[in-house]
Amino acid sequence: MSKFDVVEASNAQKHYCNENNAPHFAPQSGRCWNCGSNIYEAKQKVMAKGTEYEREVTTGITVEEASNSLVTGCPHCNRSYCD
Ligand SMILES: [Zn+2]
Repeated sequence: MSKFDVVEASNAQKHYCNENNAPHFAPQSGRCWNCGSNIYEAKQKVMAKGTEYEREVTTGITVEEASNSLVTGCPHCNRSYCD
């Protein structure tokens, strides 16, 4: 099960950037300046609404992802933070 935790994930991302000498693109608080959602929080999103392919997906960056990969954009609105 994926774990979502704003404080833990943002700390994990900071740590990841330090360890890998990578630029920290993600907003410090985790709050996306584009859509206002927190990138480290789970959000349900309905895909292909009204069609036979309609399904619900969960977007958001888990603690595991924040510890192991560089965050370069918002998982909710797909806004890139590195341009
Ligand atoms: Zn966003």
